[in-house]
Amino acid sequence: MIKKRNTSIGVIFSLIIVLILPLALSFKNRTALLSALNSVISYDNVDLNVSTKIPILMYHYVRDVDRNIDPMGWRLSISPYYFEEQMKYLKENGYTTINLKDIEDGKVPKKAVVLTFDDGLEDFFTNALPILQKYGFTASNAVITDMIGNTGHMTMDQLRACSVYGIELISHSKGHFSMSNLNKDRLGLEISDAKDFLKNNFGVDPVSFVFPSGKYNKLVIKTLKENGYKIALTTNEGEADLSDDDMLILPRVRVDNRRAFLGFKKVLEEIAARK
Ligand SMILES: [Zn+2]
Repeated sequence: MIKKRNTSIGVIFSLIIVLILPLALSFKNRTALLSALNSVISYDNVDLNVSTKIPILMYHYVRDVDRNIDPMGWRLSISPYYFEEQMKYLKENGYTTINLKDIEDGKVPKKAVVLTFDDGLEDFFTNALPILQKYGFTASNAVITDMIGNTGHMTMDQLRACSVYGIELISHSKGHFSMSNLNKDRLGLEISDAKDFLKNNFGVDPVSFVFPSGKYNKLVIKTLKENGYKIALTTNEGEADLSDDDMLILPRVRVDNRRAFLGFKKVLEEIAARK
């Protein structure tokens, strides 16, 4: 028994010698060591109002669709009625909406969500934006630059108005091709042209990208990095964990008519319960 205790003391002593002594010697004096140790264990500098986890919600159309006539379109849409119920829920439950740029800047308050809308669709402007404005919310819209002004997509003027209100315009490529099928040159063009277009026409430098149809591979991610993108969003389901996830393949929480309002509330409650 005594021998075992001596062995334990020996182990602890060896650990002190191996781990602590070199650290202590590396400091010029004892005061510096103490202050360094103190800064490691002190929580004074930790902003407890900051979170590393955030649900990034993924929307497409905000419109009414007859499920029997267009089941696929129905699944890609949320009815404006449910959308308003969702925004009301976020407001009443103390959520803050932030842009992806805020994530890059490390400004993620607790109970924050990002609202993302894919494809630069016209009903974002006609149906979603008035509701967002009513609740004082922001959102990020992923624009396909070649589709601007096409039927069902926002015009240049509408996008400008969004940007003036504070909607974050982000890149969803130039032509919405499946990125993982493109060769290096074409991929570079799809990614850099879209960024330049947004920069030249709206005065924004998007650091965020949404993979068209959620498709990506190593070359796509490398090309994004080369073009200055810091954040890229997939269609993988889940809450983003900023301390653990790769920022260039962040998951999102899909919101459409299948979740309507109760499913939306349920998924946010489940996320909140895990915190
Ligand atoms: Zn898309």
